[in-house]
Amino acid sequence: MATIQDFFDEKIKLPSPPAIALKILEAVRKDENSFDELARIISADPALTARILKIANSSLYGFPNPVDSLSQATALIGTNALKNIALSFVIVQDFQKAPQGSFDLSLFWRRAITSAVAAEILAEYIGMHDQDLFVSALLQDIGVLILYLSDTSSYMGLQDEKRVSGKTTCQMEQKTFGFDHTEVGSHLLSIWNLPEAIHQPILFHHTDIVEAPYKNISRILNFADKIGAIYYGVHANSKCIAVHEGLKKHYQLSDEQIDQLIDTVGEKAREILDLFALDPGDIKPFSLIMQEANEELGRLNFSYAQMVLELKQAKQNAEQLAMELKMANDSLRELAFRDGLTGLYNHRYFQEVLESELERAKRYNHPLSLLLIDIDFFKKVNDRYGHPAGDQVLQEVSNTMVKLVRRCDMVARYGGEEFAIILPETGLTSAKVLAQRVRRGIEQMEINYNDQMLSITISCGIACSDSSKDRSVTRNKLIENSDQALYRAKKNGRNRVET
Ligand code: GH3
Ligand code: MG
Ligand code: MG
Repeated sequence: MATIQDFFDEKIKLPSPPAIALKILEAVRKDENSFDELARIISADPALTARILKIANSSLYGFPNPVDSLSQATALIGTNALKNIALSFVIVQDFQKAPQGSFDLSLFWRRAITSAVAAEILAEYIGMHDQDLFVSALLQDIGVLILYLSDTSSYMGLQDEKRVSGKTTCQMEQKTFGFDHTEVGSHLLSIWNLPEAIHQPILFHHTDIVEAPYKNISRILNFADKIGAIYYGVHANSKCIAVHEGLKKHYQLSDEQIDQLIDTVGEKAREILDLFALDPGDIKPFSLIMQEANEELGRLNFSYAQMVLELKQAKQNAEQLAMELKMANDSLRELAFRDGLTGLYNHRYFQEVLESELERAKRYNHPLSLLLIDIDFFKKVNDRYGHPAGDQVLQEVSNTMVKLVRRCDMVARYGGEEFAIILPETGLTSAKVLAQRVRRGIEQMEINYNDQMLSITISCGIACSDSSKDRSVTRNKLIENSDQALYRAKKNGRNRVET
């Protein structure tokens, strides 16, 4: 497997440090505490000097009085810090010249600077002082830039695969190159002769190796990177949760402190980005990010609630529909059992009911009676008043019979002007009483057909099955018996009941 050295040798042209950075590093290496040489190099670049002074005056340091000379700045922040600020400017500026392609170089540096600001602020929150932290945080992902610039197509492919696979950037880099950006970045900076305190934390900023040198700094870099991602990354919300959990666990910060910290990073990063001549873009106060996230969540909740409501409504509609369907089916079935003219049960259904009622009567040893009824001289009604008059008589007689019987009795149109009434649990004596009541009721009817008053009578034959005495009675037998009784009623003068 290729080593980093091989990779550098074979695959990439190692970018040399910017000339001025070399000079700065050289000056500091000669004499760490000597300010004069450093000041001479920086002063040779008025733009750099101006920026360094602006940084010294920024809220990142928050000095009460204006800092208006490099010597004053050094006195306040130290030679090493001054060197680091100078290096940051020089390196960021130098990399701006790199060919961009599809890589958003400006976004890269905006995020890097925001992370560097985050590292400084986090260090302040936890009471840590480290002058190399800003540069370390700023350059922690420089390996990404190097890998990208060296093998753009592989790196773009790796990013695409990362998005679909859900693997981390380091995992994907390891898979593609055999090493990741932490190794490349740290290696580059060591070759550039940046101090160990800068490149070693970078090497471990994605690992959690307990015995790693500069472990605490690496951890700050990692959190700083995540805070940078809240402002410039794609998964702001999940990064925010990770930052909250991590900072609570490692530094015992409260949620309020963490929110305030993230907010401060946003505010200060704007100021520092400006000094790096980088447009802060759409960097927003964290509270606004959260507000937008909450609004989005609210919208999601709303649409969820709306969806639940619609589902409920749909369920109700489906239930209503099912009920209507059942009712339609019931009434269809009912229609199939009914006679069209009179609305009484039809002959077929009468046969079914008689069969089941007879069986039930036998099972429980109950009596069952059947009345067969025929309208007397009905033909004459048709002949004298016409068929419609006959129809009306059939309808009114039907209605009257239904009113005269009990609820449990069943009135059917047997056919033509003949009717049948099934009387469950009714012996012969009761059946006679009921038959007479029906006969009388019909006799007393006054049927108004086109203002002509018609009156009619019926004849009725009764048959009774008494299961306690004779269990052999069949449906046909019962019908036959009632028919014979009806015949007798006709023969004996009509408008009468016979058994
Ligand atoms: P009886 O007293 O002997 O029963 O004499 P009837 O005239 O009632 O008996 P018949 O069987 O001679 O005549 C029955 C008539 O009923 C004949 C038929 O046209 C008529 N009818 C049968 N069904 C209907 C109907 O749906 N509507 C009308 N208007 N008449 C019907
Ligand atoms: Mg008849
Ligand atoms: Mg008749």
